[in-house]
Amino acid sequence: MRQGGRQAFRLVTNYTHKPMKTLILLTLSLVLLSAAAFSQRTPIFPKGEIATVNNHTGTVWLKELNPPDSLLDIGIATATFAPGAKLDWHIHPAGQVLMITEGTGYYQEKGKPVQVVHQGDIIKCAPGVTHWHGAAPKSSFTYIAVSTNSKKNKTVWLQRVSDVEYNSARN
Ligand code: MN
Repeated sequence: MRQGGRQAFRLVTNYTHKPMKTLILLTLSLVLLSAAAFSQRTPIFPKGEIATVNNHTGTVWLKELNPPDSLLDIGIATATFAPGAKLDWHIHPAGQVLMITEGTGYYQEKGKPVQVVHQGDIIKCAPGVTHWHGAAPKSSFTYIAVSTNSKKNKTVWLQRVSDVEYNSARN
């Protein structure tokens, strides 16, 4: 026990008498903190596979996280867009909620201006409203999409988003 006490005292002495060591420790801590902050860019859920369906432009990855079933009729999926990638205009007959987990993107409802949306934003796509969403030109974009009433919520795909519509966004 005595031994332990002496050991602790020696450590404190070394710490106070070697400012260089303190500096190195502080620097190391900062480097580790920065690394931790950087690693947050790693997606929480898998990115999934590149979508091959003809309802978007650019590269989109899709991953179903929770298929709706008889126990819980809630569909949960994640979508990731390469910069500039976007879905065509479409309608969710029973609506959908988008929870943005990464990046900056665009969301537009028919007849309204494009909204610039960011990580942490929640978008409510009301039932039956024509809209589109996708990545901003210089940012990737990821969200988690949640939908219910799966039997009457099959997405209705419409026309492509034109360049004029896409470029009307103000960053
Ligand atoms: Mn949608």
